[in-house]
Amino acid sequence: MIDLTITEALEKLKSGKISATELTRAHLDRIEKYNGTLNSFITVTPERALADAAAADERIKNGTARALDGIPIAMKDLFATRGIRTTAASHILENFIPEYESTVSQHFIDAGTVLLGKSNLDEFAMGTFSKTSYFGAPISPWQLERKLNAGGSSGGTTSAVAAGLAMGGTGTDTGGSIRFPCSITGLVGVKPTYGLCSRWGCVAFASSLDTPGPIARTVDDAALLLSVMAGHDPKDSTSANRKTEINVPLQPILGDGKKLRIGLIKEFNDVKISDDMKNLFEKRIADLKSLGAEVVEVSIPNILDALAAYYVIAPAEASSNLARYDGVRYGLRVEGHDIYDTYKKTRAAGFGDEVKRRLIIGTAVLSSSSYEVYFMQAARVRRLIANAFNKAFEQCDLIVCPSGANTAMPLESDLTPLEYYALDLFTVAMNLAGVPAVSVPCGLATNNLPLGMQVVGRMFDDVRVLQLAKHIEQCANMNNRPKTVMGE
Ligand code: GLN
Repeated sequence: MIDLTITEALEKLKSGKISATELTRAHLDRIEKYNGTLNSFITVTPERALADAAAADERIKNGTARALDGIPIAMKDLFATRGIRTTAASHILENFIPEYESTVSQHFIDAGTVLLGKSNLDEFAMGTFSKTSYFGAPISPWQLERKLNAGGSSGGTTSAVAAGLAMGGTGTDTGGSIRFPCSITGLVGVKPTYGLCSRWGCVAFASSLDTPGPIARTVDDAALLLSVMAGHDPKDSTSANRKTEINVPLQPILGDGKKLRIGLIKEFNDVKISDDMKNLFEKRIADLKSLGAEVVEVSIPNILDALAAYYVIAPAEASSNLARYDGVRYGLRVEGHDIYDTYKKTRAAGFGDEVKRRLIIGTAVLSSSSYEVYFMQAARVRRLIANAFNKAFEQCDLIVCPSGANTAMPLESDLTPLEYYALDLFTVAMNLAGVPAVSVPCGLATNNLPLGMQVVGRMFDDVRVLQLAKHIEQCANMNNRPKTVMGE
């Protein structure tokens, strides 16, 4: 049963071939069996899951089924869930039980999904391998014995979905945290247009960049999840006030003489990527051409500066957002001899090293002596990049580029902070610009590990981005079930 896609499962649930309870039990059994090894979930919620499933079965039986009734999902532990511990993978929120539900998780409740649990991530979503989690890193189910990283920061969800512990799930993408983990675990990850999915109730990292989005095994499944997640939310002032129709199955935009212009980013030609990534990317471009796409070169002149701009803007916003964890209002409190000492002791004990590094950088770049040269300069680069994307989309309909340079590395790889930051090279620019981007598997590398490529579109062109991603998925025609776990 865990082999079904969401689309197939919905069909079987509707026709009564399977029940939501059976489907949920199958996933809970797998979680029981593998979560100890994979560490995909920080908190598993079996009672809630079975109650959700029973309610879904009831609705399906009496003909009031909802859009995703009975589909078991993993919720990144950054989305506040009422009555269920929400940790952001941080010691400082280790025992935080929200009294409210995030808009995104509420949308999933309203759609009838089954909550399996809260999935692991980098602490406050800061990282690339999910190694900064206070609860230990999740690992990838691919070539399990090698203990490969499942990506970050949404690595718990990718680990769970790739291993069949959940049918799909949520992530957040501030600088690549959905796309990068999906690219190295063979999954589809969507960073929607900024503002399409509400951030309300999602623990804030960098508010102008944070983008909730879905993670799934197929493009159609990701589109289904996105159709539930998206929507205007008056509680989030940056939520887009418009309706996006997402119809699944996604319809082809190539073939039968359909015209489409696809842009390749010139500046990325100079970036070193693995031979496998290069070959697979070129193969997929050739496939798109044979389907009738016209391929053109576009220029985003400052795109290689995106990384530097991101690592100024994101920490700056984080230093402000994380000021609220002071031992008074939320979570951990370490008593000091006065209130300032309490702040200091609480934050010193509650935050991990990477979070502290970001807070120090963020505070520095916002200080009066550095603000103009760092923060404002980064903001200008950001504007140039967003303008360049707009201009590029005058010459093409959609852009494609790699999601990363390499396949998954072992979790134990010893990288410096700057080496980790550099892994975001292909993803951060889209967050700075706010444009939608999907990472879709483009094939298996010679080491039999998956690689992903991105489709990027103009603001609110999310559906076409998904449609082109589906063509790539079909061309790659790759088995994205890791043998070690899924092949049993
Ligand atoms: N790797 C990036 C960072 O550490 C991206 C994080 C994210 O998208 N949440 O900031």
